[in-house]
Amino acid sequence: IDVINSIAAAEIIHRPSNAIKELIENSLDAGSTSIKISIKEGGLKLIQITDNGHGINKSDLPLLCTRYATSKLAKFSDLQSLTTYGFRGEALASISYCSHVEVITKTKEDGCGWKALYADGELVASKTESSPEPKPAAANDGTVISAEDLFYNMPLRKRAFKSASDEYNRILDVIQKYAVHNPHVAWSCKKAQSSLPDISTSAASSSRANISLLYTAALAADLLEVPETVLQPADKLCATVRGWISNANTNWTRRGGWLFFINNRLVDSTKLKKALESLYTAFLAKGSSPWIYLSLEIDPAKVDVNVHPTKSDVHFLSEDEIIEGIVGAVQQALSGANT
Ligand code: ADP
Ligand code: MG
Repeated sequence: IDVINSIAAAEIIHRPSNAIKELIENSLDAGSTSIKISIKEGGLKLIQITDNGHGINKSDLPLLCTRYATSKLAKFSDLQSLTTYGFRGEALASISYCSHVEVITKTKEDGCGWKALYADGELVASKTESSPEPKPAAANDGTVISAEDLFYNMPLRKRAFKSASDEYNRILDVIQKYAVHNPHVAWSCKKAQSSLPDISTSAASSSRANISLLYTAALAADLLEVPETVLQPADKLCATVRGWISNANTNWTRRGGWLFFINNRLVDSTKLKKALESLYTAFLAKGSSPWIYLSLEIDPAKVDVNVHPTKSDVHFLSEDEIIEGIVGAVQQALSGANT
């Protein structure tokens, strides 16, 4: 069983930035308006995420890192909407199979916080205690999750990471994207040793202001808005798109110009990317590449059931029509600005 679980863990958590993405999504799901991240050695030594969300009930702590343990089942009235985000309750379990996990959490209702340690899906005792039971702990409302020594039990994988700074940049890349999509959250990210954050946003920001802050002011100044558009035929597709895109003549050459969210999850769609890239070539100055942030809201029943966290490419029903609709909305924004 442990071998199977470790393999599953290794498939979901390829590198520190995958763990960050999962932890961020959990904090957002918990309704957080402040998410603070602290990183050691590109996340290989420590990933710590502090949120001010609704916290975890003490009674849920023993099974928190069990595979398929999710509190989100009960919250969806429509069972189908579960499929929106693909597999459920695997992220924390996976992280606990490849690192040492510590959770400190407090709900508003609870008088004190609770601290729990996990390894391989289960509660474990700390070095100084004999029982693995959660212990009372000083805490603010919300949750602090620390994952230490990522891949400590997978030496081959661990050795494959050559550069902590490369991993750190991947982490920053993920956080920047979520910060553009969730400007109502105050984000921060820093190296644990450093006092200056590398990312710091205010909860009163906007997507555009965060683009200016986290990418470049020149890009933000030139952005075109894709206003919220209902994709047609509306009754069939049940989807809307909105976002911000670079103007075709903006010389955007930095990496990371692709921010695509479906129902608030950061995903990849090779098909959509290709379609938009070829649209841009009709407008684009040579040597520059588009910067595209799009948020697609789609009826949860229409997202592929098999959106596994390891498959970065997402699929959805009526994919061709939806992509056509998105391309149309983007084209309209581009041609409005370039005629
Ligand atoms: P899923 O998000 O698919 O439910 P996870 O393994 O990511 O599965 O998380 C398991 C459960 O742990 C969640 O359903 C949630 O109840 C709880 N949880 C994890 N992180 C947080 C958090 N930051 N705040 C509140 N609850 C959390
Ligand atoms: Mg999750």
